Amino acid sequence: MRQRIAAIGSGPAGLTFARVLHRHGHPVTVLERDAGPAARPPGGTLDLHEGLGQRALAKAGLLAGFEALSRPEGQAMRILDTDGTVLRDWRPRPHERANPEIDRGDLRDLLLGPLDVRWGQEVTRVVPGARDGVRVHFADGHQETFDLVVGADGARSRTRPALSPVTPHYTGVTAVETSLDDVDTRHPALARLIGDGSLAVYGANRALVAQRNSGGHVKVYAQFRAPLDWRAELDPADAEAVRSAVLRLFDGWAAPVRDLFRLGTTYVRRPLHVLPVSHTWTHVPGITLLGDAAHLMPPLGAGANLAMLEGAELAEALAAAPDDPDAAVRAFEERMWARATRWATMTAAGLERLVSPDPRAALALFDEVQPG
Ligand SMILES: Cc1cc2nc3c(=O)[nH]c(=O)nc-3n(C[C@H](O)[C@H](O)[C@H](O)COP(=O)(O)OP(=O)(O)OC[C@H]3O[C@@H](n4cnc5c(N)ncnc54)[C@H](O)[C@@H]3O)c2cc1C
Repeated sequence: MRQRIAAIGSGPAGLTFARVLHRHGHPVTVLERDAGPAARPPGGTLDLHEGLGQRALAKAGLLAGFEALSRPEGQAMRILDTDGTVLRDWRPRPHERANPEIDRGDLRDLLLGPLDVRWGQEVTRVVPGARDGVRVHFADGHQETFDLVVGADGARSRTRPALSPVTPHYTGVTAVETSLDDVDTRHPALARLIGDGSLAVYGANRALVAQRNSGGHVKVYAQFRAPLDWRAELDPADAEAVRSAVLRLFDGWAAPVRDLFRLGTTYVRRPLHVLPVSHTWTHVPGITLLGDAAHLMPPLGAGANLAMLEGAELAEALAAAPDDPDAAVRAFEERMWARATRWATMTAAGLERLVSPDPRAALALFDEVQPG
C-alpha cells in the first residue's frame, strides 16, 4: 500500500489507528490542533473494556504496556444514597481485568510511542473530489492532499461536514466538572468515602460522581437536567458563583457528598451533546470518520473504547487490502455503524436512567451491568 494517509486528531481514535498501521509498516501523517502533547490537561480517567479498548491495544502490541500503567483496583464502584448511606460497594476480585482504569495522559503517551505527530496543525476543512486526492485545508491557510483522510477529530469534527450535514444536539443533561488534588493527604475522609475507584450518588434528576485518577487526583462531576442556557449569565471563571449555583441544586444532600464538589477550585461546564443514535453517511471515497466524530455518545464508558477499536480495525483492514483500500474502508464503515448504533442506543438509555426523576432507575442499571 503506497497511499498517502492522514489521521486528523491525536485522541484515542487517531493515535490507535496510526499506531496499528505503523505496526504493519505503513506511515500515517497525524495532524493535531494542540501545540503539543501537554498543551492542555489530558482529562479524566478511562476504563478500557476487555473486548473493546484492550482488544485495540492488543492489536497495537501494547497490552503489556497497558497492564503496567493501568489500575485494576480503580474498577471499584460505590453508590450512596443522597443522605450518605452506602447502597452498593462493589470491589473487583484480585484478578479482575474486565475494565481497569488508566489516566488519559498515560494512555496517550503509550499510544504515541514512536509516532511522529505534527502538532499545531488545525484543520478547517476537508474537501473530496480533487484530481490528485482529498484536499485538507489548515487554519494557517496552507493546503495538503492525501489519498485517505481519517477524521478522528472528535465531537466538533471539521472532517464530518465532508460526509454528513448532521451536528451534535444537547441531551438535556449538563455536567459541571471539578477536581481534588492529593486527596489522600488533604482530604482523607473524602478519600475513604470514594474508595479505590468511583463513587456515585443519584438523586431526582441529578447525580454526583467522583472518579479516582492516579496520584491522589479525583475528578468530580455534578450532573443535572437543565436547559442548555442554564445560568448562562455566570462567569465561568468565577468559581464561587458557579460552585454555589450548582450546590443549590444539591441542597439537602449529605455534607460529605456536597464536599466532593464544594472543595474543588475550578469548575468547567460541559453540556452533554450527542449525535443521533444511527449516524451514517453515503460513502465518499478517500474520507472516513472514527470515534466521537462519527458517533458522539453520552460519556458512559464507551466512547474512547469504541474509538480505539475502530482505529485498530480500520488500520488492520487497510493493511490487509493494499490493492483496494476503498473497499476496505466501505466494509469497515458498515461494521462501525452497526456496533456504534448498539452502543449509542445503550448509552442513551443509560443516561435517561442515571439522571432520572427516579433515582432507583440508576441503582437498577448498576445491578444489571455490574460484573458478578
Ligand atoms: C467526562 C467524560 C468522561 C468520559 N469517560 C470515558 C470512559 O471512562 N471511557 C470511555 O471509553 N470514554 C469516556 N469518555 C468518552 C471519550 O472521552 C471520547 O469518546 C473519546 O475521547 C473519543 O476519542 P476520539 O479520538 O474520537 O476524540 P477526542 O478524544 O476528542 O480527540 C480528538 C482529537 O482531535 C483534535 N482535533 C479536534 N479538532 C481538530 C482540528 N480541527 N484539527 C486538528 N485536530 C483537531 C483534538 O485536539 C483531539 O486531540 C468520556 C467523556 C467525557 C466528556
